Amino acid sequence: MSIRYDEGRPWKGWYSTARWRKTRLNQLTIEPLCRMCRLQGRFTAATVCDHIERHSGNPDKFWNGPFQSLCKTHHDATKQAEEHRGFSTAAGTDGWPIDPRHPANRG
Ligand SMILES: [Zn+2]
Repeated sequence: MSIRYDEGRPWKGWYSTARWRKTRLNQLTIEPLCRMCRLQGRFTAATVCDHIERHSGNPDKFWNGPFQSLCKTHHDATKQAEEHRGFSTAAGTDGWPIDPRHPANRG
């Protein structure tokens, strides 16, 4: 039997823990500006600690990231586009898409 991490989505509650507040604050301290705004040459204060990789309830990914700082606008737009496409276009430090569902990582 495979483990279904997302069953019942218990991780929704992890966002309201002190541990998450600390993790989020730490990320926003390291990277105070929205990463996507910066790519567009704009400087916007980030308010969201975003999981670059979908954690799907995996505690290791949830708590250890990788994370990126985003403004709310970009966070919402990114997640909506990702759900529409079915994969994330976020790239790792080597420039390769991180998401295993990305077409470049299939086959
Ligand atoms: Zn932004």
